[in-house]
Formats: sequence, C-alpha cells, structure tokens
Amino acid sequence: MRKLEGLSASPGIVVGPVFRYADEGAVSIPKYEISRDEAEAHWRRFDAALVKSRNELSLLMDGRNKEQNDILEAQLLMLSDPEFIPQVRAELERTLLNIESVLHAKVDAAASMLRSTGDAYLSERAVDIEDAFGRVMNNMLQADPAPDKASPGQPSSAKAGTRFVPPGTILVARNIKPSEALSLRDSGISGIVLEEGGATSHVAILARSWKIPAVMGVRGLLELVSDGDEVVLDGVDGLVIVEPAADAVSLYRTRATSEVRLKSAEAAVRAALLGAPAETRDGARMTLRANIALSDEVPDAKLEGAEGIGLFRSEFLFLASETLPDEETQYAEYRRAVECMKDCPVIIRTLDAGADKMIADQRDYVEKNPLLGWRAIRYCLDRKDLFRAQLRALLRASAHGDLRVMFPMIANLGELESALSVLDEAKAELARKKLPFNRRMKVGIMIEIPAAAVCADQLAKRVDFMSIGTNDLIQYAMAVDRENAKVAHLYDCFNPAVLRLIRMTIEAGIDAGVDVSMCGEMAGDPASVFLLMGMGLRNFSMSAAHIATVKELIRKASLRDAIEVAESAMGLTAPREIRKLVQERLKTYE
Ligand code: PEP
Ligand code: MG
Repeated sequence: MRKLEGLSASPGIVVGPVFRYADEGAVSIPKYEISRDEAEAHWRRFDAALVKSRNELSLLMDGRNKEQNDILEAQLLMLSDPEFIPQVRAELERTLLNIESVLHAKVDAAASMLRSTGDAYLSERAVDIEDAFGRVMNNMLQADPAPDKASPGQPSSAKAGTRFVPPGTILVARNIKPSEALSLRDSGISGIVLEEGGATSHVAILARSWKIPAVMGVRGLLELVSDGDEVVLDGVDGLVIVEPAADAVSLYRTRATSEVRLKSAEAAVRAALLGAPAETRDGARMTLRANIALSDEVPDAKLEGAEGIGLFRSEFLFLASETLPDEETQYAEYRRAVECMKDCPVIIRTLDAGADKMIADQRDYVEKNPLLGWRAIRYCLDRKDLFRAQLRALLRASAHGDLRVMFPMIANLGELESALSVLDEAKAELARKKLPFNRRMKVGIMIEIPAAAVCADQLAKRVDFMSIGTNDLIQYAMAVDRENAKVAHLYDCFNPAVLRLIRMTIEAGIDAGVDVSMCGEMAGDPASVFLLMGMGLRNFSMSAAHIATVKELIRKASLRDAIEVAESAMGLTAPREIRKLVQERLKTYE
C-alpha cells in the first residue's frame, strides 16, 4: 500500500479501477533496422505486450455495463486475430525493422483501408484497431522505452485509451487539456487524477463543476498503476492510495458512503436556502452568480440558486470543435444561455484562447512562454475578423436578455480602447444590416493581470463593470504557474500582495461607481468570501456547486465582523496568519 499526496481539486471519495489515459501525440515510434537473429526477441516483446494488453482489457470488463463490455470484447478479439497477428510476424521477418515500426505501419494500413471504404461502421472499427493496438504499443514502449538504435521516428497515431473511457473508472493521466476534459464530461468516469495540474487549472475547475472527485499533482502515479488496478481517490485530503490494504478500502468505502449521506443532508439545506437571499445578519446583500463553460450548464446553475451567470467561458465552444464556430452557431449558443437565464444577467467573456486553451488556429505558433504570450484579448485583437464575428453574435444575442460582454486579460488602457472600437465596428455592421441588438449592452473587463489591478482606476472610467480573475491574478502576481504542483505552495489567494491588488480594484470600482465582482475560484471559498465582503466586495461568481455553501456562510456572518477582520488582515504579513484570523472568526458562527 502506498499513499501519494497531491492537491485536492474536487471533493469526494472513490474507490475504483484505474484507467490510464494516454497523452495524445506524445508517443513517438522508434524506427531502426534489426538483424535476423534479433527478430525473435522483438517478436517475444510483442507477444508479452499482447498478453499484458489482453489482461488489462479483461480487468476493465465490468458485468454492469453492456456497451463498454461490447467494445472491450471487440478489442480483445482484435488482439487475438488469427489473420492480423501472423501478418505482423511475416512483416517483421520480411522488413527486418524493429517491431514497433512494423506494428505501427500495419495498424496504420489496416485502419486506412477500413476508413477508405467510407462506411461508418468500418470507420469505427478503424478506431478500435488503433485503440487496441495503441495499448499494445504503449505497453511495448513502456517495457523498453528507448532502444539504443532508435532514431526519432514518426509520431504515433496510436492513442491508447482515447477511444473511450470506461464508465466507473478513475482516469489517471499526466495531464489533460481542457478540450479533452470537455469530451469526458458525460463519459461516466468516477474520478480524475493528474500527475500535473493545480487546484485552479481549468480541468480542476471543470471537475468541480461536474462534481467529479479529482486530485492534481500526484507525481509518479502513472509508473505505479496499470489499467484495472484498484486505487483510492480521496479528493477531500488530496490523496491517492495505490494497492490499498483491505482495511483501507473498507474505511474509505465507509467514508464515501457517509459522504453520500452528507450530500443528501446538504441537499436539504440547499433546498431550504434556495429562495433565501444572500444577505448577512446585519442586512448586507450579496449577489451570487455562476461560472459556466457551455450554455447547457445554465439550468443547473439556476437549480443551485444562481442569480445570473457571472462568467461564461466562451472559449469552450471553440475548444469543443476542430473548426471555429461561426457567427450563427455562437449566436444560438449565447441566445440559449440568455433566454434560459430569463431576466438575470449573463456575463459572457470573449474568447480567452491560448496557453492551456489553444484553439485550432493557434496550434502552429509555438511560444516559449505561452502563459505570457499570444492569448485572450491579444489574440483577438490580432484576429479582428474572428473577434468581430464573436462580438456580432454576442450583440445579436443581447436583444434577447441581459447579456453583458467581458474582455479577458486586459493589460492596459490601449488594449481596452482597441477592443471597444472593434465592438463599435460590430455594432455599426449590425446597424447597417438592421439587425436588432441592445445598444446599451454593458461592457466589462477582467482584472487578472497585476498591471490592470494597479491601473484599475484608469480602466474603470471606460467600462460598466470589472470582474477580478484571481486564478490568473495570483499566477501573475506571484510568478507561479497555476498548474505547477511543485510551486503550488506559493499560489495562495491570502498572500498580502494578492489581497492588496484585490483591494485596489475594489476601491477603484467604488470610486468610479462601477460594479466590481470576482469570478476566480477564490469567490467560491466561504472563508475568502468573508474576507472579501469585509474588503467591500458584493458580487461573487463561482462554480454552481459552491453557491449554497457560500450563501450559508453569508447568512450566518455579519458585515461588521467581516470589515473588522479584513482591516486586521491587511496589516498581517503571512497568508497563514490571515487564514487563521479568518477561520477563528468563522468558528464563532458555528
Ligand atoms: C481567472 O483567471 O480567475 C478566471 C476566472 O479565468 P480562467 O480561470 O478561465 O483563466
Ligand atoms: Mg483567467
């Protein structure tokens, strides 16, 4: 039994089988010549990988899920195919190339032949062949990762595990892109563990909003587990237990069951809170909105009591497809969100692409520091056609409700002015075409770069609202990659420097009479919300799953207390002391 520590990214406890999710395109297939004498050893490696892969597939079979079993069974048959396997052997002996490159070529040829038929069923089988033999390839490469003679070879089309993820399994990967996470939403996985990633990485944010337990930054896990191995995922304490002893399994299963009970008790509290306002004991009213990635999350947000959408991350619409969504597709998506939210505001952030959320158009541009590079508003201002199309779609949807537009990653006034003039162009185009839109549509910016927080007073004069994005603000203020588990200890929202930037923004908003809200993950944490109320913040947007807990805290608290605590906190120097101060005051409410 081994306990590995990581970062708690989404609460919940699961005990279940592992599914290793391969890095897309990360494997490259070595290619080199071998002697006739060496061929037998290569064949034996292939044979051993076949046996291991068959075992893994059998372990993934689960009597309860017929669809999953059918796919696994088909793949098992492929790994024993009486025609294909001997053909691999014949090719190995004919070409005298290493087994990986022989297998790669054979699988590619078989898959291309099936695809060339144009038949949907046969094309699906091509994916199965790639998936099943991709598993064999990965097993061979793991057993013998870097043969001396290997030349860098072509990238593999073999993507073990990307075909589907068996429901009920715990997905384990080095890292996954937000676009991949999106495709996993309805796969039925029971948990996510990544070797990389931080608590505010986009995958963590998505996992929380889909209520899938997750732990990030668990280094070395992939080396320790195979498909089908049972592990414990403790998303509460940020732990993974490999080869758990029987008593640990039963302990965690009991904890998981009591969590379910707790959740139903929470559901009752939630229901009671639903109609109640987010108001402190001394009558200060807060607004709680939800963060979403796609319009189909709006109904859930409403069920949790969201008073609007405070952050609609529009880039997920772009990430969900290989081609850029056109104006009509975007208009339909934005309109759906606004209509579903009825009279409440829906703040839609314009495309925040780049860095970890690379869209198809950006992939050929390689950057040394993508987090400091061509992303968000910088990218949009270089791609004005695309930006104008999005703004037209947003403006048209604004005719159907209280839609507000928000620009991400604004660094200075010049960028804001440029974005506003593209917005004016989009308005003029719609006016020329006599298409309806809300001429007074509210426009805001995200404050997520320290430079913007410092100059928030200047920016505030040109906008209707500002929303603090602490996920990036902390990253840039502390010079710490939000996905890097190694330096995660520096990533702390209670750092005095971060708090000062937040306070500057809130004060700039108050002075200019402009609404300030927060949509970073900090806004979903009750202790932080208490401190922020004391600093003058009144609007919070968070994953819908956090709304009830935050509201519960607000209704127990008094604003007078919060102001007193915030004043003392601003005089402290260590995040630890600030956290302790806040928590001690919160204890008095229990
Ligand atoms: C933020 O940076 O706080 C934010 C809300 O945006 P994202 O997490 O999408 O970068
Ligand atoms: Mg951000």
